[in-house]
Amino acid sequence: MQVAPAPFGTKIQLISLWVPAPVPGSGGLKKNNYLRSALRLRPWCETGREMNLNYSSKLLENAVAEFARLPGIGPKTALRMVLFMLRQEPEDVYRFSDALLQLKDGIKYCECCHNLSDTARCAICGDAGRDHSTVCVVESIRDVMSIENTMQYRGVYHVLGGVISPIDGVGPGDLTIGDLERRVQAGGVREVILALSTTMEGDMTNFYIYRKIKDSGVIVSTLARGVAVGDELEYADQLTLGRSIVHRTPFEDTFQSGNPA
Ligand SMILES: [Zn+2]
Repeated sequence: MQVAPAPFGTKIQLISLWVPAPVPGSGGLKKNNYLRSALRLRPWCETGREMNLNYSSKLLENAVAEFARLPGIGPKTALRMVLFMLRQEPEDVYRFSDALLQLKDGIKYCECCHNLSDTARCAICGDAGRDHSTVCVVESIRDVMSIENTMQYRGVYHVLGGVISPIDGVGPGDLTIGDLERRVQAGGVREVILALSTTMEGDMTNFYIYRKIKDSGVIVSTLARGVAVGDELEYADQLTLGRSIVHRTPFEDTFQSGNPA
C-alpha cells in the first residue's frame, strides 16, 4: 500500500489497523492470509467526529444548528448545550424558551439614549438624580453596563449601536449619530464624552461625531488612554506608553477618590 509521506511536523494518527483471523483447516497460515493491515494516515486536524457530527435525529440536528448560530458557539458546544437541555425538566425548558420569546417581544430601545429597556424611556434616562447635561457616547449596551459597574459615572448615555466601519459596510446613517446631534442641538447638554473603542474605527467615529457637534458649544472629551492599572511599563506597547507620557496627569489626581461626573 502506498502512503504519501506526511510533511515534516504534521501530526498524524493511526486510524485503522486490520488483522484478519486465520482460516481454520487451511493447514497453516499463508503469508497473505496471515496479516492484512490497512494503514491510512491523514492530518490530525481532520480526525475525530467533531468535523462531521452524525446526528441520529433531525430534531436534534435542528436544535444544535440553532445553538451553533450563537456567537462563539461551535457545533460541539452547541451539542453539549442541547443535550443538557434534554436532560432538564420540561418546565425548565419552557421557562428558558419563554424568556427568549418575551425578550424578543417585549424589549424596547430607549427613545432618548437607545439603551435597551422595558419601557419607552430607560431607568437611567428616567433617573432625576443623574446629571443629564453629561452624555457618554458608547458603542453598545455592554459598554453602558461596564461603565455603570465602575460606579464612577452619574451622567447619562447615548448608545450608537456600533462604530463607523466602511469595510463592514457600516456608515454614519446606520448608527444613532443623527439622534445624538439632535439631542445636543436641543440644548441642556454641557459635555459629550466619547467612550468608544480605541480602534481605527472607534477613532474614525470619534472624529466624525466631533465634527458634527463641535460648533454647538458643548465640551467634547474622550476617555483617558494610557497604561492600565496593574500593568508593568516594560510590557506596555510603545503607542500606549507614549500616549501615557503625553497625557500625563497631576500626581494628586492619582490618589484622590473617584469624582463622579
Ligand atoms: Zn435611556
